[in-house]
Amino acid sequence: MTFSIDLNGKLTLPLKAVESVTIAPKHGWAGRVKAGQYLKLTDPRGRQCGDLWAFNAEDPDEHLSAMHTRVWVNRLCPAPGESFHSNHRRPILQLAADTCGTHDLLTASCDEHRYRLYGVQESHRSCAGNLREVMEPFLGTTRFYVPQPFNVFANVPIGADGSVLNGPAPSKPGDYIVVKAWIDVIVAISACPQEFNPITGWYPTELLVDIMEPTEALA
Ligand SMILES: [Zn+2]
Repeated sequence: MTFSIDLNGKLTLPLKAVESVTIAPKHGWAGRVKAGQYLKLTDPRGRQCGDLWAFNAEDPDEHLSAMHTRVWVNRLCPAPGESFHSNHRRPILQLAADTCGTHDLLTASCDEHRYRLYGVQESHRSCAGNLREVMEPFLGTTRFYVPQPFNVFANVPIGADGSVLNGPAPSKPGDYIVVKAWIDVIVAISACPQEFNPITGWYPTELLVDIMEPTEALA
């Protein structure tokens, strides 16, 4: 499988997948993405958001930081060509391609406490729980601080009055983003199990991940 991304409308870079994974509905995945590799995250059915985290593979105390990114790009979420920054104030992932255009970098991931507030008495999968599950092989523990995620395909409109809402999930079947790793990272993604608001279209489904490499050097 090859895939071409448009780099700021100037260059086209052909990519080929070196690893492809289907993240089951309501579950998570984590894997290593080397510096210079790309990760494509696809919503095959549409209306499914995914929470994405990135940690420095050599030092997981450094991670993609929403608050450090916002002050760097001077907007709520990076536009294609712009980079997410880490809590060490350096670029960690670049948003290289985006067919959806609507994402959120403000809100916390869902967690067990959120579902308890919905009145769910039994255990319920959550994005924070998925992160703990998939990062345990890399960190050796499930007890760690959960950074604020990049909520891919999440629609959180900000009103002129400062209101923050949960809008209907905007992605169409086949929508994707592509991010480039600036350093070796562990990327973790949760196919959000949220069925109590329209962020997943009320019905959680799967997400597709491709780790990709350029097939040729840029001229
Ligand atoms: Zn979630």
